[in-house]
Amino acid sequence: MGAAEPRIVPGLLSCLMVCAANVAYCFNLSEPNTGVFVHAGRQLALDMPGHDDIANIGFIVGKKCVAVIDSGGSIRIGSELRAAIMQHTALPICYVINTHVHFDHVLGNAAFEIDRPSFVGHAALTQAMARSRELFVTQYGGDVIAPDRVVEHELTLDLGGRQLQLRAWPTAHSDCDLTVFDQQTDALWTGDLLFRERLPALDGSLKGWLSMLDELMRMKVALAVPGHGPVTRDFKSAIIPEREYLEALADGIRGELSEGRPLEHAIQHVAAAQKPRWLLWDSVHPHNVVRTYEELEWE
Ligand SMILES: [Zn+2]
Repeated sequence: MGAAEPRIVPGLLSCLMVCAANVAYCFNLSEPNTGVFVHAGRQLALDMPGHDDIANIGFIVGKKCVAVIDSGGSIRIGSELRAAIMQHTALPICYVINTHVHFDHVLGNAAFEIDRPSFVGHAALTQAMARSRELFVTQYGGDVIAPDRVVEHELTLDLGGRQLQLRAWPTAHSDCDLTVFDQQTDALWTGDLLFRERLPALDGSLKGWLSMLDELMRMKVALAVPGHGPVTRDFKSAIIPEREYLEALADGIRGELSEGRPLEHAIQHVAAAQKPRWLLWDSVHPHNVVRTYEELEWE
């Protein structure tokens, strides 16, 4: 991370309110660009306490209303985000946008039902949520609100003097990835198309993800909010580690397949040189190898 990187600093008002009830926990909030508020998720494994707070979530404030971008992994986290919004603006919440289906980005949706926003997501999000509903309820103890407005390709939302461009992507990290671009400050909310520090998790298509990164590289972005890890003003450099890991995964699996080696060997050896760069390797990498093995087996 370079010296010019914005730091995630706790929003004082948010902290005071939440910490008064629980001094051990503080709902951090930063405003890296004017009107762009980010709560930084924690780099925890999915089976650790606090795993409902692992994604970067936040909101953007226009002159007329507010758009939430991802709602956290539980109603509790969604409610804390909602409380933070109330401290910064009296404007109504008109949109809750989900960047994709994973629980850590969507299970806080119900906390915003009272605001009667439009819930917005990728055209494939409704089906993806239906497929995940049982997992949400049994494993994470929460249900989810599906979108009432979907994006096939692109959609512009107006927050009052501030427009957000939403773009639905072909299958990459997941089958329902959506990015949000704030035209006012050139800030791009990437969802889990960009991981930093935490090892990228593959739940879509490795080949799709790699080709999508080439397109992201061509975008003019002044500030990027990744799905996990620190926000950055050097978007292109921030993509490189993720791309190198995904390329090592693809190259390594192709090598294993051409040698006829079993999956167990691939899990141990593919992309192993990348391990020191990333958090949560042991809980994420084996799954990525299995997914990639399945994807590339018949190419
Ligand atoms: Zn995800």
